[in-house]
Amino acid sequence: MKLNKLILGHILNPLSDKKCEFFYGALYLEEGSEKEFKIKKIYNFSSLGIQDLKEEINKINCEVCDFSEYILMPPFFDMHFHWVQDHVRAKPKDSLLEWLTKYTFPAENKFKNRSYAKKEARQFFRKLLAGGTLGGAIYSSIHAHALEYAFKEARGHFVIGDVVMTMNSPAFLSQKIPQARAQIKKFAEKFKERYCFTPRFALATDPETMKFGSKQAKKNQSFIQSHLSENHDEIRSTLSLYREFRGFGHVENYTEIYGKCGVLGAKTLMGHAIHLSESELKLLAKTKTALVHCPTSNAPHREQGLESGLFNFKRVEKFKIPWALGSDIGAGPHLSMFDVMRSFYYQNLRAGKAVSFVKALYHASLAGAEILGVEKKLGNFSKNKEANFLVIKNPYRNLKNKNPEQILKKLIDKYKTQRAQYPLHVKNVFYRGKKVF
Ligand SMILES: [Zn+2]
Repeated sequence: MKLNKLILGHILNPLSDKKCEFFYGALYLEEGSEKEFKIKKIYNFSSLGIQDLKEEINKINCEVCDFSEYILMPPFFDMHFHWVQDHVRAKPKDSLLEWLTKYTFPAENKFKNRSYAKKEARQFFRKLLAGGTLGGAIYSSIHAHALEYAFKEARGHFVIGDVVMTMNSPAFLSQKIPQARAQIKKFAEKFKERYCFTPRFALATDPETMKFGSKQAKKNQSFIQSHLSENHDEIRSTLSLYREFRGFGHVENYTEIYGKCGVLGAKTLMGHAIHLSESELKLLAKTKTALVHCPTSNAPHREQGLESGLFNFKRVEKFKIPWALGSDIGAGPHLSMFDVMRSFYYQNLRAGKAVSFVKALYHASLAGAEILGVEKKLGNFSKNKEANFLVIKNPYRNLKNKNPEQILKKLIDKYKTQRAQYPLHVKNVFYRGKKVF
């Protein structure tokens, strides 16, 4: 016999970058094949008195989980982070180069040890889940087994890739070109649309391997991700290096380099993309490439970021380029997407740009699902989507007559000055109808 469940609570449901629902109601879940639950109906009970509500629930007649004191919201999508950099989140970030060479590369090198990688994967993905993130795009280290462990431990919908580093990298993290290509081919064929070909960035991956990997990705319906235009030094070095390569002598900008290597496309995600010219934006739009904005990583040093600048979302939207938010762990200091939403909102507010928390939530949830092409089953609450939801502690005494913007502001402001505390908002995490945290 199939089991159905009624999940009562205050439903916060992002619909677009301007619209979000908030009402007292219930998610009606139906068990499907393999004992996994889907949302079959969403009830709005906001106009019912207590007696009518009881009658209504009796009529529905199924197991009831009462989270009436809580908020139910869809899990987050974190669209850019390095799971192997969890231990460098709090290291000094005054200089990108120093942070990379002194802390980040040695930290990633530790993953060459199998048992270390296995233990770290278990701990990291448990922590990610507890913070409410159940989807996104992940960078692993160069090591094949680290990628396998990440796929094994990640709960939710993630695309993951082993970073490819075939040039300009420390000796201990450098790959030989034939081995790097064999690994890309093997993983693209094995993990298909869950694999993400991941040249670390143009500076660290040779153009021929970028071409090879992009072909493999396209052949296997895999995704592609990399970094683009994070800071001015990186842009200058990339251009001067590539202009020496055959066929790249006349490249005008950074984006064009990726374009020439076949990296751009509808299944490609470019992280940061802060300093872009108009012709670069045109090329990104033409190729349907998506961008990932990592505000906590790009934030000023005093906010534990790399001070790379502020992503111009208005300009990106003018070109109709899809974009989503990412934590960029470990350049970003905190895993919680509440912290990423906070940073996006307040940095833009300070810069005099009109933003809302509703917009932040959309880019931390549904927008990610859309970019990964899974918006029909994930990203928010609607009929036939997977029954994935977060049970969030109520920040108000009374939730009546509150709007989504107020609710989100209250949640985000609560830990504004104690950013490591954001995961405390999450009481439980449900995945396909079952409590996993
Ligand atoms: Zn990154």
